[in-house]
Amino acid sequence: MAKPLSREPDLKGFMREIDRVETSLRLRQAESSIADLERRLLSLSQQDALTGLPNQVLFADRLGQAILQAQRNDNMVGIMVLDIDRFKRVNDLVGHSGGDEMLQLVARRLEGILRQGDTLARMGGDRYMVLLPELKKDLDATKVGKNLLDAFRSPYKAGGRGLQLSPSIGISVHPQDGLDASSLLAHAEFAMYRAKERGGNRLECFTMTLNQSSLERQELEECLREALQNGELQMYYQPQFHMNGRLAGAEALIRWNHPILGFVPPTKFIPLAEENRLILPIGEWALRESCKQMARWQALTATPLLLAVNVSALQFANGDWDACVVRALVESGLKPHCLELELTESLVMRQGHEDVRPLHRLREIGTRIAIDDFGTGYSSLGYLQRLPITTLKLDQSFISALQVEGPEISSEHIVRAVIQLAHNLKLTVIAEGVETEGQRGMLELLGCDGLQGFLLGRPMPADVFETFLGSMAEMTFLEGARVLR
Ligand code: C2E
Ligand code: MG
Ligand code: MG
Repeated sequence: MAKPLSREPDLKGFMREIDRVETSLRLRQAESSIADLERRLLSLSQQDALTGLPNQVLFADRLGQAILQAQRNDNMVGIMVLDIDRFKRVNDLVGHSGGDEMLQLVARRLEGILRQGDTLARMGGDRYMVLLPELKKDLDATKVGKNLLDAFRSPYKAGGRGLQLSPSIGISVHPQDGLDASSLLAHAEFAMYRAKERGGNRLECFTMTLNQSSLERQELEECLREALQNGELQMYYQPQFHMNGRLAGAEALIRWNHPILGFVPPTKFIPLAEENRLILPIGEWALRESCKQMARWQALTATPLLLAVNVSALQFANGDWDACVVRALVESGLKPHCLELELTESLVMRQGHEDVRPLHRLREIGTRIAIDDFGTGYSSLGYLQRLPITTLKLDQSFISALQVEGPEISSEHIVRAVIQLAHNLKLTVIAEGVETEGQRGMLELLGCDGLQGFLLGRPMPADVFETFLGSMAEMTFLEGARVLR
């Protein structure tokens, strides 16, 4: 007989079944939380922690896809590199947490401008990238770029204060500016650096000519890195005179003599050195070298000749640049009142109050502060009273337009007004770029205090300047200039 079916519940089996289900549930839960974790890790690895924007990994991925799609649909892809100008200053002013807040605010404002489908990413630091997939015309990218620029018109408020930020934006468009992601990125970056070179707060589109000059730039940059070590940099000295004809001192002007490129003008390599921060060691070297040289000449002539040294924006923005100046003075033995630091107007105007403290500290120990190329920068002159300035160097463009009987009477008016203003503020005025006797005579009539220019002496290497010093000992500049010619 068949065994009757047991009506008793199989409790053991039931419990086993529960265990099995529980285990599989736990397993599934574990699996799903692992998947969840993986998803979160993936998104973290593709997200910028500070702003929540895509990071460069995700950006590169989307760019690759956008290029493939554009090739299929015969579209264009635009990319932009946006770098905030002088962001270090922001951190100095509002602290790092304030700076972080600014970066978040920038992200939110930029996001608000872009369309759905565009990607805004942060590359770290103060650099953002924008991807514009499926563009119809390359001009569309420029339009978006202009809108992004406009997003910086009103100040950003963080860390308890409002700051005016500005970006440098570089644009490149696929396919004309690059077929693959890496060349597009590199070209947008080149364009961004060009925007910086031109003063920032602007947009630059990549062009092939820009590429050529960028290649040259890269080569130049590599050479410049070696220039200091190889002793290719040299200081030249251009004499400066009092109006009465006595030698006042010299302006130190840097020269780069490359074995193959020959003399590279400072107007070409100084902006480059500023961009890659090489100006910091170069500027320090120039300062130390010229201070030592001038101290030697002072001992030789027993005259407290003045040394004028140019200071670049980046040195100025470096918080402890006054310490660097003091080191150069102590090391050389040059007296602080025999050193004049030349800053440009735009440089001085760009700084917030905190950053001008080194300037005050240096002035307190007696160092003189000149505004170089005066008249070419800012129109607001309030800083002349706010900052401890001692000297104005009238830009050579005003001087070259100065003629006793020339038609450019306005230049004469400007020079006269500047000299009057300077004297009211108890500042000394030096004219740069004096090339003719007519200009010299005019400047004398107008009451200018000092002169510098080819008429009186070109920039010369130290040994030539030393010979010149010997010949100048008891001569006025006119006699000296005759000796030189
Ligand atoms: P800057 O400081 O305004 O220097 C005056 C420039 O005018 C010099 O050009 C000088 O050679 C030139 N110059 C002088 N007299 C005359 C003249 O009568 N006619 C004409 N046409 N030019 C005259 P340079 O040496 O080529 O320097 C150009 C600029 O490079 C300087 O302008 C300065 O801004 C920068 N620079 C030079 N040396 C240094 C340096 O050691 N550090 C920094 N940061 N910048 C420097
Ligand atoms: Mg100068
Ligand atoms: Mg100048």
